[in-house]
Amino acid sequence: MLTVEEARERILAHFAPLAAEAIPLTTALDRVLAEDAVARDETPPFVNSAMDGYALRAEDTVTATTDTPVSLRMAGEVPAGSVYAGVVASGETVRILTGAPVPDGADAVLQQELTEVADGVVILRQKVDIGANIRPAGGDIRPGMRLLAAGAQLGPAEIALLAAAGIHPVRVARRPRVAILATGDELAPLGEALRPGQIRETNSPYLIAAVLRAGAEPVPLGIARDRAEDIRAKLAQARDADLILTSGGVSVGDYDLVKQILAEQGNIDFWRVRMRPGKPLAFGLLGTTPLLGLPGNPASAAVTFELFGRPAIRRMLGSAEIERPLVQARLMGDSIERSDRRHFVRVRLSAAEGVLEARQTGRQDSHLISSLRGATAYLVIAEGAGTVRAGEMVPALLLNDALPWGDGSASDQA
Ligand code: AMP
Ligand code: MG
Repeated sequence: MLTVEEARERILAHFAPLAAEAIPLTTALDRVLAEDAVARDETPPFVNSAMDGYALRAEDTVTATTDTPVSLRMAGEVPAGSVYAGVVASGETVRILTGAPVPDGADAVLQQELTEVADGVVILRQKVDIGANIRPAGGDIRPGMRLLAAGAQLGPAEIALLAAAGIHPVRVARRPRVAILATGDELAPLGEALRPGQIRETNSPYLIAAVLRAGAEPVPLGIARDRAEDIRAKLAQARDADLILTSGGVSVGDYDLVKQILAEQGNIDFWRVRMRPGKPLAFGLLGTTPLLGLPGNPASAAVTFELFGRPAIRRMLGSAEIERPLVQARLMGDSIERSDRRHFVRVRLSAAEGVLEARQTGRQDSHLISSLRGATAYLVIAEGAGTVRAGEMVPALLLNDALPWGDGSASDQA
């Protein structure tokens, strides 16, 4: 039996980043940068005002106090989006609005609330420091700054950063196309009444959602009956996919079906992986397309997708983060027996006094979807003997990216 690491290594060896494509920046949410984003221009592009107020020469204000006000002649106005043509001379001020370029000659802005205005004269009763309420050019982004590294995933803030630097369209990895096929005579698709002996088909709905969330494009192939011809015909529609996911038909007794087709049309590795849930796992090439045969039980399919399918997709995206973060959490509640297989236990994490606590979401049988729901992590119970008891710290594989562990970005200077 392979370890989880061995299985993962063999699978990932078949995946590399896909070609890049240029897309509009506003459609790039959750996409992965295909190349470093380096700023060409500085941001802000010019010295500008942080306030609505008056641009002036700080030296003109040094004597201003409540009792000895200073009066400056209002020489003009500069709203955002325009440029003041003249130079602010000694004894003068220019009304300025937030974001407008600070006129030549001025070296500070006094906010409007701290002034009185009468007959074209601005009266101030306090000294203004050089640079007050002024935003320097390049104070946010400087030319040559590496804003994000290739492999960074784009969220709203990254998109705003690229917009500021004028990077549009943006080059991102093409989204992998992932074909999804359920197998089983007992499976009924959504919207059809259950006949005697049938169960609802849930792996495709799960995998379509999980594939989308991993950043790929799902291509559902429906349900194949447990007959080689049917599986063969459905898989024939997946030839242009970057990855094929099947579920079911890999446990002892019926695994010959997917195996038979892979053997005919490509090559096949059938494994038992030292893990729980999810022991049987198939991997091979259908023609040249990698096929990952997940076990049929819903929790097994979910865990094996998370451990093997998602990293393959992230690798095709060129993502800097193909692994989810592993954190330490304190087991609460029922103890867990170790076994000769690594056990991924569905838990919900919560934080208490700076420590993450992990509570099982329910019974852990591999057919139970109700305890898949609500899991925010899989507790990783290493192979071995003995019992893990409440209070022990155990590694937990996060199932979301909500915690701020690395985003593949590099905000250092290139
Ligand atoms: P198998 O690996 O085909 O032997 O399936 C193992 C268990 O998972 C059986 O109880 C199947 O009914 C169930 N199963 C297989 N595929 C699915 C699916 N797509 N949706 C829900 N349950 C499934
Ligand atoms: Mg089956």
